[in-house]
Amino acid sequence: MLIEQVVQVSPVSELIEEPVRFEPRPRSESPIDPLQDCQNWTWQQVTSRAVTDPSTLASLLGISNASLTSVTQENAFGLRIPHTFIARMQQGNPADPLLLQVLNQREEQQIREKFSTDPLHEHTGSPCPGLIHKYSGRVLLTVASACPINCRYCFRRHFPYEDNRLTPSTWQPALNYIRQNPSIQEVILSGGEPLMLKDSVLDTLLEEIETIDHVQLVRIHTRFPVAVPQRLTDPLIDRLSTMRMPVTIVLHTNHPNEINNTLIQALAKLRSSPVTLLNQSVILKGINDCPEILNRLSRKLFSAGVLPYYLHVLDKVQGAAHFSIDDSDARQLHQALVDQLPGYLVPSLVREIPGQAAKTRL
Ligand SMILES: *Cc1c(COP(=O)(O)O)cnc(C)c1O
Repeated sequence: MLIEQVVQVSPVSELIEEPVRFEPRPRSESPIDPLQDCQNWTWQQVTSRAVTDPSTLASLLGISNASLTSVTQENAFGLRIPHTFIARMQQGNPADPLLLQVLNQREEQQIREKFSTDPLHEHTGSPCPGLIHKYSGRVLLTVASACPINCRYCFRRHFPYEDNRLTPSTWQPALNYIRQNPSIQEVILSGGEPLMLKDSVLDTLLEEIETIDHVQLVRIHTRFPVAVPQRLTDPLIDRLSTMRMPVTIVLHTNHPNEINNTLIQALAKLRSSPVTLLNQSVILKGINDCPEILNRLSRKLFSAGVLPYYLHVLDKVQGAAHFSIDDSDARQLHQALVDQLPGYLVPSLVREIPGQAAKTRL
């Protein structure tokens, strides 16, 4: 049984191919195709030109406006999708697994019991603005308020970023807190999106962190390179490669279709640097809650130089209930990966429980 499953694993060359696309439909009449063109944009251009209205989205995907009728605009956390991410969606498919991660559907408006606006009680773990100290030995800096992409299941979708955004003029209290706590060995840049920071600002922040002797590790939690591979610029990679302490980047990828050749090429530059690349995923109903998809994701990540790290069950954030699956289903899904994959390709199945100093294994 096991041997059969191992033999069925595709060779690496097959794993790095573009996802199979639906029958292409003609796109808009415009002479410039933004989905092709976006590959040549800078990351700032991709970010500022993100699609925020459903009819543009529908026309780029070659689907009728009517197939997006579930979209609602009454949400402060609006539709926001960069062209580079849309380019990986299947043309003509309103149920595309990448589209469903970022499409604001009517279900979001339902107020559901046990789903809250602060599922992780992060307002209680913050000793000063922009710093969350809930894990032992580690702190999170929420360094940027926005993201280039609004994922609908985001557990910080209601986070009061305005009060917690770190800038060079406001980050001293957070840095002092780290300086005064020798137990803090790791600083995790989180968000929003830490890579929303301009390179010069990020550089200054990293310099400050490097001066704190007891900080031995730096980590960046980011979905930015997945949404916009252009963000992995040579200067950024050089900066991370020359930090005095080991740097880890934890990417966030949920579906194998997110890993296209553009992303693989961008990650190739990081692979030849000292930076460690890990990935975390969230189990999302109707998107990746199936062993075959998660199996393919793990293998594709590995062939791009990224190790699967965490598989999260959904944080119960208000507006994301339609992505939720039962714990027993999550365990079954994880067991299937254990049965099918080498151990180093099986992410840990975890849940975030408010008040716990570490994640809880399911
Ligand atoms: C879990 C988590 C961390 C800490 O991760 P560990 O790898 O368990 O130390 C940091 N940031 C976010 C957003 C997390 O979910």
